[in-house]
Amino acid sequence: MPLVETEGLVIKSYNLAEADRIVVFLTHDHGVVRGVAKGAKRLKSKFGSGLEPFSVVQATYFQKDSVELVSIQKTDLIQSNFDAASDPDFLQKFSYLGDLLLTLSPPHDPNETLYRMVRACVETASADRSTLLSTGVYFELWMLRLAGYLPDWGHCNACGREFEVAEIANLQVNFHLICPTCRRGAATRPFDGVSRSIAAAARKLGPGKFAEFSSEKHDALKALSIILKLIIASSIGREVTGEKSLAIKTQG
Ligand SMILES: [Zn+2]
Repeated sequence: MPLVETEGLVIKSYNLAEADRIVVFLTHDHGVVRGVAKGAKRLKSKFGSGLEPFSVVQATYFQKDSVELVSIQKTDLIQSNFDAASDPDFLQKFSYLGDLLLTLSPPHDPNETLYRMVRACVETASADRSTLLSTGVYFELWMLRLAGYLPDWGHCNACGREFEVAEIANLQVNFHLICPTCRRGAATRPFDGVSRSIAAAARKLGPGKFAEFSSEKHDALKALSIILKLIIASSIGREVTGEKSLAIKTQG
């Protein structure tokens, strides 16, 4: 029964039986890990606040091959995000993003890019709550990209030509873009250069710089977020709950 030590971010935790908690971590070395923290509900628990959602911890646990749940021995707090986690807007946004992460990331599948992205998003939105919208879009773009579901929005899906900055592309039902030359009839779902620049910026920038880049592009961020939620729903066959999923339905 090997003992594992790794940095991890608490995605969610919930009560199990009288004194224990189940904790779901995104770990640096082993991807998504679910574990039991025995005695965590007791007043003087050795875990302290190391099991609170969105805390960054150094976690030590026993891993048995035959058992899906690991046995958490210890969590040393590296960074608490308790202030942010008690803000309803932050909590709602990151509960949804956490569900999205758990839906698209298989357990025990390490991915350093994913870990760094998620940790940077939590830190950015925790430090400045006004970045919640842009951080959410950033997270959705990266989750879709890492899962292989994000279309290439730099080129026309029919002729392969790269879009000009000012060109209005049209979003197809398969979420790829088509140029005005290849399009038949009127543009039904215009997708402009601002939306394309936001998607391109997320590839190059961290979430903090991305928030600066998109700070004046509120409406485009919201429109893009609706499209990303449609891609998510179409890719996994259902909506990911946790956020105002009504926004998708009212868009028509
Ligand atoms: Zn074309």
